[in-house]
Amino acid sequence: MTRWLALALGTASGSATAQILTLTEDQFGANQVPLGYPVPLPIESQTPVDGFRAYAPLRAHLADLALAGADVTEIQVGQSLNQRPIYAYRLGDADALTVEGLPEPAALINGTIHAREWASPEVSAALIERFAERADDGGLYRYLLDNLNVVVVPVLNVDGLLQTQRYPTQMLQTEYSGDPQPDQQQSEPEAYRNYPRDGRFRRKNMNGVDEVLCAAGDAGCTADGMNGVDLNRNNTPYFGSGNQNSGAAGALLYRGTSAASEPETQALDAAAALGPTARLRLFIDIHSFSRVYFGVDTGNTRRDAIARSVAQGMAAATGAGNRYPYSPSPAGYGIGSTDEHFGYGYQIPAYTLEIEPSANGGIDYGSFGYHHDGFVLPADQIARVRQELTAATTLGLYRMAGPPLLRQVRIERVSDGHPVFVASWQRDGNQRRQTVETRETLSPQVEYRLWLAFNKPMRVRNASGAVVQYTGQSADPMPSVAITGADASGSGFSHPLDTSAGQWLGAAGNAPSGLSRYADDSYTVTFSIPDAVPVDQARRVGLAVGAEDFAGQALDANPRTIGNWDGGWTGYEDSQGNDDTDSGGVDVTMRIVDDGSPLPGQSAGSSGGGGAFGGGSLLLLAGLGLGRYLRRWRHRRR
Ligand SMILES: [Zn+2]
Repeated sequence: MTRWLALALGTASGSATAQILTLTEDQFGANQVPLGYPVPLPIESQTPVDGFRAYAPLRAHLADLALAGADVTEIQVGQSLNQRPIYAYRLGDADALTVEGLPEPAALINGTIHAREWASPEVSAALIERFAERADDGGLYRYLLDNLNVVVVPVLNVDGLLQTQRYPTQMLQTEYSGDPQPDQQQSEPEAYRNYPRDGRFRRKNMNGVDEVLCAAGDAGCTADGMNGVDLNRNNTPYFGSGNQNSGAAGALLYRGTSAASEPETQALDAAAALGPTARLRLFIDIHSFSRVYFGVDTGNTRRDAIARSVAQGMAAATGAGNRYPYSPSPAGYGIGSTDEHFGYGYQIPAYTLEIEPSANGGIDYGSFGYHHDGFVLPADQIARVRQELTAATTLGLYRMAGPPLLRQVRIERVSDGHPVFVASWQRDGNQRRQTVETRETLSPQVEYRLWLAFNKPMRVRNASGAVVQYTGQSADPMPSVAITGADASGSGFSHPLDTSAGQWLGAAGNAPSGLSRYADDSYTVTFSIPDAVPVDQARRVGLAVGAEDFAGQALDANPRTIGNWDGGWTGYEDSQGNDDTDSGGVDVTMRIVDDGSPLPGQSAGSSGGGGAFGGGSLLLLAGLGLGRYLRRWRHRRR
């Protein structure tokens, strides 16, 4: 937990003296804490099970995955206080370039800062396992591996996790006056609280602690189990700020002597540098519990809005309705947590994901209500949780990998396959693209096949191979396409195509009936143009294409400028050609007959007296059945 939600739940039990307590399923004896469900023990399995793996086999499995495939690389990013290696896993192909040849964007997923949060290593490892398992899917995961550098640190606090696994049923519980007082929103009668602190309930790292669980007063015990640094209070820029951390070494929220004083904190920065940090677009720190995406508002309104939107998308992708709400801290408020470090430091969406249970704790699974039982997820829940949160994090990665764009178009005659229009964007340096085109004139009453290829998988399929929405998302099912232009006298026209009969293309084969690079990155539909549409004698004929990727992001309306992240999207134009929005829009850059008139957002050209997509484009686009994008655009402008 990064917040007090769970800590303040329930009433502290037991005496004011330090005690070693034992977790039981249903035994209520002296010094026993009955959970109400079986007490999970670390399981000696490398592969995922209905339970929580011991650290050694978990790490061995990830190391094996790194040896087995080119898409997983194990990198030591530091060493714990007790000299244990801290590993990061880089998910991606070796070249650090996108398929287009651009520097790859990066994401950083961190796990197990807090030792007792056993769901975190499982959920973190599950992401690595998913990428390894689906590396050859030819679709979503191949796209992410090719075009994004995902760095996962499954267990940052190795020493602490091992301490909890050494004593899976035991804990040191004691009151401590150095713990920070509850904040104003909490009401807790005690001057200080009776908390579990070591053994199964260790939260902090092992700074100043030996690996023996004992209580003060026991023979040979120095009661050092109180010590350790809370690694989620050890970070810039809000180190030592606010009241949810403490300078007292025994406190549960002890922040350490200075920001990044701990080797584990430094290891997380080393993992970020693998991105490298200049390419980071997403950070998630995986904790439990309370079932929420915590985060930060940094005051950068575009970044803050995208962070909210991505969190909401991920929450929906868990498949459980509106669980996992987004709860950002207000700008300027911090406690020294990692989401602040990455959110403020890099102006990227940055989250503290608190895995279930809800703030009610183990009561969600029928527990007896011990005040910290939310940290002990029942073993029979973790397989589902791994699945839900892998789907959620994958959606976040897909979002931040970048907006969709229309990369390639082909129009051919159905009768003989003759290409009438072929165009594709080709990278020209790192900022711009150009099109390479074949153009002929379209004619009325001829049946054509249109093939559109996008830069990313736009859809996913179910086990039966049918195109379905990604869990919890509601993208437009089909692209919207209109043949647009200006006739010989300069009057605008438009002819929306019926795209409902088209299909997304999941099979290999390229134009006109197969995918381009990844499954479902392409779409095809046949059409003909009525006599009334003057395409054969127009001064300009073009396509107006709108589409949403499966996360609901609209197209980069002008692929000429290459999109990037800079605290908001750059080069991600809307339908008006604006680059200072993050909504995307309708692509009108593909012209079959080009009169040189300006595109939206360009200054008026010399010829044509202002194009149909110049000054009057808003009205015309609204008439094309593309009003949805414009409504969205207006809405987001507010
Ligand atoms: Zn935590």
